[in-house]
Amino acid sequence: MSSERESMEFDVLIVGAGPAGLAAAIRLKQQAAAAGREVSVCVIEKGAEVGAHILSGAVMDPRALDELLPDWKALGAPLDTPVREDKVLFLHAGGAHQVPHALLPDCLTNDGNYVVRLGSLVRWLGEQAEALGVEIYPGFAGAEVLHDEAGAVIGVATGDMGLTRNGEPGPAYQRGMALLAAYTLFAEGCRGHLGKQLEARHGLRGNSDPQTYGLGIKELWEVPAGAHQAGLVVHTTGWPLQSDTYGGGFAYHLEGGLVAVGHVVGLDYANPHLSPFEEFQRFKTHPAIRCYLEGGKRLAYGARAIAAGGLQSLPTLVFPGGALIGDDAGFLNAARIKGSHGAIKSGMLAAEAAIEALAQGRRQDLLEAYPAAFRASWLHAELHATRNFKPYMKKGRWLGSLLFGLDQKLLRGKAPWTLRNRADHDTLRPAAECPRLDYPKPDGRLSFDRLSSVFLSNTNHEEEQPCHLRLADPEAPIRINLARFDAPETRYCPAGVYEIVEGGDGEGPRLQINSQNCIHCKTCDIKDPTQNITWVTPQGGEGPIYQGM
Ligand SMILES: Cc1cc2nc3c(=O)[nH]c(=O)nc-3n(C[C@H](O)[C@H](O)[C@H](O)COP(=O)(O)OP(=O)(O)OC[C@H]3O[C@@H](n4cnc5c(N)ncnc54)[C@H](O)[C@@H]3O)c2cc1C
Ligand code: SF4
Repeated sequence: MSSERESMEFDVLIVGAGPAGLAAAIRLKQQAAAAGREVSVCVIEKGAEVGAHILSGAVMDPRALDELLPDWKALGAPLDTPVREDKVLFLHAGGAHQVPHALLPDCLTNDGNYVVRLGSLVRWLGEQAEALGVEIYPGFAGAEVLHDEAGAVIGVATGDMGLTRNGEPGPAYQRGMALLAAYTLFAEGCRGHLGKQLEARHGLRGNSDPQTYGLGIKELWEVPAGAHQAGLVVHTTGWPLQSDTYGGGFAYHLEGGLVAVGHVVGLDYANPHLSPFEEFQRFKTHPAIRCYLEGGKRLAYGARAIAAGGLQSLPTLVFPGGALIGDDAGFLNAARIKGSHGAIKSGMLAAEAAIEALAQGRRQDLLEAYPAAFRASWLHAELHATRNFKPYMKKGRWLGSLLFGLDQKLLRGKAPWTLRNRADHDTLRPAAECPRLDYPKPDGRLSFDRLSSVFLSNTNHEEEQPCHLRLADPEAPIRINLARFDAPETRYCPAGVYEIVEGGDGEGPRLQINSQNCIHCKTCDIKDPTQNITWVTPQGGEGPIYQGM
């Protein structure tokens, strides 16, 4: 593209208006005000509005929010539902066993936590940030990291708008902008598109294990009054997943007759016939879950990957000119399925390091105070205590649960060993060696098909633009994925984006990519066995429009 980009300059640029990015923005402004300094802070967000791409559970630990905005209650934060009852269930085909509360490790209990709609909380955080003078630009996707000649990050370029399918400027073409900053904080959430590039370019994974992920699929239901109990939190493991597949479900009862129901499957699963979407649909039909949903109405649907590797999978957090925060780095505590408090805390720590650096007149260097502060923080202690959770669960549901229970109850998370994580794209076995999984047809009451589900995510992409799901080798989907793994992308994508169709004139099968349905979960970028699929940002403002998910 020939035309010059217009540019704008800030002290700190933040890519992504999730809990991490907005906490960083708020902390920057708070600290600048305390020091009597002017610091310009800009946040860009690829969703059409703040919160539009946020999908979580969510039961929130308020610890980091207490530190960020101690008067959050008075400021009207949407944390209205304290956890009142907490159940952990082992499901089997016919029933369920509840784990006695006394046997649960502390990290699995939810006393003092809140059931929230994370999208609503993030919208509120956005309002707090704007009130402090942060400039927030929804509808702008960070599409490219900008470096100077010495290799330091100097900002990002937002995506071009109005390109045709083959990447040429169309009639409504608008060149993206260069947003420049002394420091750029990347807060894109799990499997950030720019974060992945930064990890490769700056060698940030040299001293860490590969990241490992789960795919979380969630629906929001309005349920009959008799089935609803505001503040009830239910976590499950077991059925419908096989015991060698990591995962589990949740049902969180919000105010107003709403229940958030969801299911997570570890993306280290081995059987390519598995469909996380179908597992979720079956999960809802279990008597221990259907009792909440029957007679209710499904209001919303969505999915998002979860970074589950924990401490040993955290990359180096800083590089010249910037830092990774929140789930872009992977601060989620998988044992607790909680990441929003870690995202907020990491954003605050990076912001404090940036403020200190700016006060010293520095720019575009290493924010070393951030990883140092993380190592000294409660967040590090928390992640350290549960660091073996995911590797234990690799040993199967029963042995893994037992080992983790002993690790937490007897050793208090202080085991002298750290077990390793492995990359998820490496774990599929050839389809011919794995049992086929027959999933029941949707009943249209509790279980549904993919297309009617995607409809409820309000997803939209302009068709006239380059496909944002890039194949490095266009032949690999047939030559490798179909031949060896029976096209797993047609099952792991929760939005039905990938289909194998017969090419005309005896050309044989080909992969069709319905990119307009993509709900930005990032699973294909993670799980494709040869890492042939790269998710890049489509035009800003596109994708799902979630309301308080
Ligand atoms: C199904 C599910 C259940 C969960 N349950 C819980 C729970 O019960 N409790 C809990 O604490 N946590 C839970 N989590 C985890 C929690 O949601 C995350 O840890 C948290 O949202 C991470 O915050 P973040 O700010 O790092 O990233 P995100 O919340 O993912 O926010 C990232 C933001 O950046 C934007 N963005 C991404 N790329 C770009 C780009 N290139 N340009 C511009 N904008 C961009 C995105 O649109 C998004 O708005 C759950 C997650 C899932 C998926
Ligand atoms: S195409 Fe990829 S990122 Fe989009 S919904 Fe499907 S798996 Fe998720």
